[in-house]
Amino acid sequence: MAIESIPNDDATGLILRAVAFAAHKHRDQRRKDKQASPYINHPISLAKVLWEEGGVRDPAVIATALLHDTLEDTETSWQELRGEFGDEIADLVAEVSDVKWLKSDARKRLQVSRAAHSTDRAKLVKLADKICNLRDMAAHPPHGWSLERRRKYFDWASEVIDQLRGVHPELERRFDEVSVLRP
Ligand code: ZN
Repeated sequence: MAIESIPNDDATGLILRAVAFAAHKHRDQRRKDKQASPYINHPISLAKVLWEEGGVRDPAVIATALLHDTLEDTETSWQELRGEFGDEIADLVAEVSDVKWLKSDARKRLQVSRAAHSTDRAKLVKLADKICNLRDMAAHPPHGWSLERRRKYFDWASEVIDQLRGVHPELERRFDEVSVLRP
């Protein structure tokens, strides 16, 4: 999965820039769990799942995992991402981002319909995102979420993943492992 546009020597630099950029952008955000853990833990978890559990070595995928919520959840623009990381990564982050102006239900439906037509790289980031979210949801349910809401979230995550199966069987297996923890 290695790509020519980013020589290996520069991969570590890219990853460090991505984690620093994301840490800065998410600096005032917390996760929805009871402990209100720092938001940056989430993108770092995705990168770790891809690297350690998926054996993914494509620096663009790891960097995109680290940056995946910056467009959607912070004031970052595509132009800014392009300036810092180039077209390729800015486009990938856009590909894994929800359309900001849509309401929550429409966003969720769109994620399902877009998943099948995503690039393989975007599919990998989506897979890692859903694995991490369901693990968090199972271990530390978001404060104030009803049983019904948590169940719906699990069902929706499975719908998205069902659209992109075939891209990485091992990560799909990891997803299935956590999806059976549906409350
Ligand atoms: Zn995420």
